[in-house]
Amino acid sequence: MLDKLFFIKEVEGLLSKSQNITILTHLNPDADTLGTGLGIYNLLKKDKSKKIEIVNASKSLPKYLDFLPSYEKIKHKIDFEDSLIITCDAGSIDRLGFDVTDREILNIDHHKSNHYYGEVNVVDEMAASASQVAYALFKQIYEIDASVATCFYAGLLSDTQYFTTNLVDKEVFEIANALVEAGANPSEIAFHFRQRCSLSALRILEKALHSLTLYHEAKIAVITITQEDIVETGAIMPDMEGLVDYAKSLATVEIAFCVVELEKGAIRVSLRSKGVDVEQVASAFGGGGHKVAAGFTLEESQLQESIDTILKKINNLGVLNGKKS
Ligand code: AMP
Ligand code: MN
Ligand code: MN
Repeated sequence: MLDKLFFIKEVEGLLSKSQNITILTHLNPDADTLGTGLGIYNLLKKDKSKKIEIVNASKSLPKYLDFLPSYEKIKHKIDFEDSLIITCDAGSIDRLGFDVTDREILNIDHHKSNHYYGEVNVVDEMAASASQVAYALFKQIYEIDASVATCFYAGLLSDTQYFTTNLVDKEVFEIANALVEAGANPSEIAFHFRQRCSLSALRILEKALHSLTLYHEAKIAVITITQEDIVETGAIMPDMEGLVDYAKSLATVEIAFCVVELEKGAIRVSLRSKGVDVEQVASAFGGGGHKVAAGFTLEESQLQESIDTILKKINNLGVLNGKKS
């Protein structure tokens, strides 16, 4: 684990000289980016001498996260003409969906593929969530109250898939414990995650399971979502989060990926593995992520053509023969 003490001075320096702060969360937001961003928003808004905004470039936000304190403050454009940017859970600038090249950036993340694009980069690839990084950093500067703890806990719960991934260790449970002590309510948060599914999410799951196709002696599983499926079910991007995990859950599967046909002819790809490195596959197509969870977008592609290209890339890179973590 990175020693966060190292960053306190730099972070305090950036915060103290900035009157306006823009918190940016990544495209196709998940609970980690929004939990990290909203946790930081709730911390910083107590300082009345500063103006704080929280922004996400995607048009749809996951509705089940509407219980996160200050969720209603999330905007879709940056209003401050000049501000310090704090990025949450974003490995590269293009994950933000805004041009922020002229601003100072504090980059808070845990992606292996992080580009270190900030003035200060608090990046720990061994952390289970970006919210874990934010917690370790900010608990040294501010008091973590119940609203902040709720947001950070949500990020941790989500990125550890309910405390089940390979990065879950004693420290993760210690942080979860500290967040619960600070006021996060585990059963209430779990209720929002597990019991508020939309009908369109269940309908698109039905389509996803129907499309499941196996390759390489059933070591690779592929889920395909067409534009037609999306129109028929009324699904939006947040409804499709987690579909790929159903494909991965099959006993024989080592790698699963889900291809989604977007409106303008682009294909969104989500990759998951049980241990082999799929981040290198995503990187080869200009994306990134973590060893066992990565993603990328292919512009102007056909569904079957992209599936074939990805299968070929997995083969050429020898990913399935690679060592497990
Ligand atoms: P997803 O399949 O969208 O849930 O993404 C899986 C992981 O890969 C997440 O940690 C994402 O933040 C990361 N990721 C997805 N797409 C990209 C991309 N285009 N560039 C870098 N990282 C990505
Ligand atoms: Mn994320
Ligand atoms: Mn994350």
